[in-house]
Amino acid sequence: MRIEIENKLVQEFPKLFPGEPAIMIDDGWFDLVYQLCNFLQHSADQCGDPQIACFQIKEKFGGMRFDIDGECNDYQAGAIQFAQLLSGVICDKCGRPGTQQGNSRGWCQTRCTDFAE
Ligand SMILES: [Zn+2]
Repeated sequence: MRIEIENKLVQEFPKLFPGEPAIMIDDGWFDLVYQLCNFLQHSADQCGDPQIACFQIKEKFGGMRFDIDGECNDYQAGAIQFAQLLSGVICDKCGRPGTQQGNSRGWCQTRCTDFAE
């Protein structure tokens, strides 16, 4: 992810990223992750849900993984799970609709037709 949009996440949601998070995804998933962060912070600030701390956002088997420290409730866990599920149909390079496919190294990734290998 470009450093300027990674910084935007960390600066807008300091409570979600109290440490130095490892953000290892491409720009295409920014909107998805941003909306998830917005939802999670709102649930903590306005609805009394636990304050989540995220230590890592990565790609695994073509999907986004949002890894947290400590407790979250079922409502928050459901939101994280749903965002992770949606990442499987969003190109991780550009954010347009994508499908999961194998690349030349045999790894699964989610890409649109323009960015498919
Ligand atoms: Zn794309």
